[in-house]
This record gives sequence, C-alpha cells and structure tokens, in this order.
Amino acid sequence: MEAVKAPRGTRDILGGESWKWAYVTQKCREVADDYGYKEVYLPIFEHTELFCRGVGETTDVVEKEMYTFTDKGGRSITLRPELTASMVRSYLENEMGKGAQPAKLWSIGPMFRYERPQKGRYRQFVQMDIEALGAQDAFVDLEVIDFSMELYRRLGLSNLQVILNSVGCPKCRPVYRKALQEYLRPRYDELCDTCKSRYDRNPLRILDCKSPICKEVTEGAPSVMEYLCDECKEHFEQLRRGLDRIGATVVLDKRLVRGLDYYTKTAYEIQSGDLGSQNAVCGGGRYDNLAEAIGGPHVPGVGFASGLERVIITMEAQGCSFGRKPETKAYVVAAEPSARIEAAALARELRMHRISADLDYMGRGMKGQMKSAGNTANYACILGASELEKGVVTVKDMSAGTQEELTTEQLINKLKAQQ
Ligand code: ATP
Ligand code: MG
Repeated sequence: MEAVKAPRGTRDILGGESWKWAYVTQKCREVADDYGYKEVYLPIFEHTELFCRGVGETTDVVEKEMYTFTDKGGRSITLRPELTASMVRSYLENEMGKGAQPAKLWSIGPMFRYERPQKGRYRQFVQMDIEALGAQDAFVDLEVIDFSMELYRRLGLSNLQVILNSVGCPKCRPVYRKALQEYLRPRYDELCDTCKSRYDRNPLRILDCKSPICKEVTEGAPSVMEYLCDECKEHFEQLRRGLDRIGATVVLDKRLVRGLDYYTKTAYEIQSGDLGSQNAVCGGGRYDNLAEAIGGPHVPGVGFASGLERVIITMEAQGCSFGRKPETKAYVVAAEPSARIEAAALARELRMHRISADLDYMGRGMKGQMKSAGNTANYACILGASELEKGVVTVKDMSAGTQEELTTEQLINKLKAQQ
C-alpha cells in the first residue's frame, strides 16, 4: 500500500524554509505595530453565507473556488477563502463600532481556494491581511497602500509596481456600467463565453479578463475615471495627492476592477516583475457597503491582503535577506558512553542560558559525533573522563579547527558573547 500523500495544492513548509516564514511574519508584526494595527485571530471556517454575501455570488471565489461542506449539525460551512468578510463580521459581532474609529485590525493565516495549482497559486496559502473599519477618509486608503509598500520595503523587495484605480460607488457606477455595456454591445459576439455571461451580471469584470480577444475588445473602452461622481473624484484626488506627497509611484489602470456593489472607490494591486503570470503580491481597496451586504449597518472599510508564498518567492528571486538562519551553537560530544549523562546535563545548562545546543541520541561513537558537530554546529563541546576529572570542557571551533579547555562558566560566557 502506498503511503498517504498531502492533498493537491497544499505544501509542507519544512525546517529549511520555515525560518524564512518566521522572519516575514515578524516583519508583518513590526509594520503592523508601527501603523497601529492590532492582531486578531479569527476562525478558519465560517458560515458559507458570510462569503456568499461578503465576497459575492458572481465572483470566481464564490462560484468556483470555495471549500464548502456540511458539518455534522447540517450547517453549510466554508473554509475561509479570504479574510475581509470575516474581519467585517468580527467588527459587527464584537461591536467594535463602539470603540475608537477606525478599528484597525490585522491577521495572518491560511486561506483555502479550489484552484488549479501552479507556481504562486495553491489550494491552501497564507495571507497577511489588514483592514481599517469605520472611516471614509481617503487618508486611510493612503495609510493602507503605504502600509503594504512599507512592508515590502522592509523586506527588501524591489521591482514592484503599484496599480491603482477607482471603481466609483453605487451612485456613479451604474452610469459607467451602462456606458461600458453600450461600448461592448457591437462586439458582444467576440467576447469569450465567461465574459458573455458577465455582460449582464457583472460587465466590469470583462475589463480584467485574461483572454487576448477580450483584452483587445476592451482596449478602447471608456474609463471609469470619466464617470466618477464628485465625491468619488474628490476621494481619488485626495488619495493621489497623498501618494504623491510620500513619493509613491503608481500606475493608473482602468482594467483593475471589482465588479460588486459593495466595493467602492479605491482598488489597487501591487505586482512583482519577478513572479511570472501569478504576479500580484497583494490586492486591496475600499468596500464601504460590505457590512450592509452581510446584514450590518453602514460601516465603511478599506484594506489589503498579501499572499506570503508570492512574497517569499519574490524575495528569493531577488536575493533578499531573511535575517539570520537559526543555527546550533554547540554540539555536546560524549567521548565515551559514561560521559553521556554529563553531556545531557551540559546541553541543558547551555540551553538555559539561551545558547542553542544539541547532542547525539543515536549511539554514535566519538568520530560520528564530531561529524554531526561539524555538520550542524559552530562548536563541539567534548566531555570525556579527563575533562570530567579536571572539571573542564574541550571546546573545538568547527570552522577554525582550533580547540581550548574551558570551564562551563567560561564556555557560557564565550558563546553568549557571540549572540
Ligand atoms: P489572482 O488574480 O492572483 O487570483 P485574486 O484577485 O484572486 O488574485 P485576492 O483575492 O485579491 O487575489 O487575494 C490577495 C492576494 O492573495 C493575491 O494578491 C495573492 O498574492 C494571494 N493569492 C490569491 N489567491 C492565491 C492562491 N491560490 N495561492 C497563493 N496566493 C494567492
Ligand atoms: Mg483569484
């Protein structure tokens, strides 16, 4: 019988890689602290209805990509495909509206989407997500975009492009929607089948179709910018002035859209030139009518979500630093079996002083243990009958090849000084 394998589209992040994840997570935490966002831990599964209403029935995510099942109590449950809807649910459920506004929340964790796995696209992946809930102010949009840029700056990323658009609001979007439909009508037959079905339901989404024919058809389509109402125009202008002021270079792109009514005003994405076709490292924007869509009062909001696999792939491609790879400082070697108990005790003492230490559990001889020390640690700390008699440790620097006899106290001081 073949051993059970992990499901398609999932991956194990093992020791050779997990330290990079810890580094990136630490940076997320640092930036969140500096921008005043509080970390929250939300459930990994929610009522399916939350996503149907909060992500949208006509989106790819809800139509094709959700992991939905009926639990033993007969409820329809879905593994979260994203965090925004859950964040808004949590804001409403925990009455965060009564606290300081906007409520600024962030979280990191696994998301689940039934997609075709490929580089940068998995069925379980990790997102870092921030949301600012309760404020309309364009400077909150500025803060959110700036947050993502600052995070990537601190991670050492370059060759990124910020793509920006506005999708208007339920006041001005219907006019644009109509203009777009009118523009597309004469060439309806050329559209791909998916876009034909989008024509009535969600025509804005035709603008970001990847099919070359649809791209060509929409080339000369009217831009939403020309249809924004005064309020949306002013909001967008304020955001642009703000981005200008902090020296952010952005590219305006009329194709960047969210088709649903609760997405309003700002839509943005940051793309990496080092990712190939799955090139978005983050996506975000404003959703002033989402809280109402999931049954709450009017709560404006703005945020972004970043896929950390793509961030790490880009960092690797660009040779960015992941900080110091954790290494074992000391490998305690028992020169003969009778010294094993003292070797165990010494390893424990080093660890108590926050010096990483390891030792042999496989009954290797002196030679084998020295080999392990050379492979895994900076120093071999050798204990044998003569060391135990003298009350010392023979400490060998594995890269320099030099060795000296030290008391345990001297050893601890030496290794601590190197941290
Ligand atoms: P894409 O166009 O790449 O499918 P999306 O519009 O579906 O992205 P969002 O829902 O905005 O993506 O999610 C935000 C971010 O999460 C993306 O920019 C990307 O970095 C990441 N992401 C989305 N889906 C996946 C996935 N299946 N695997 C890995 N990362 C993902
Ligand atoms: Mg997608």
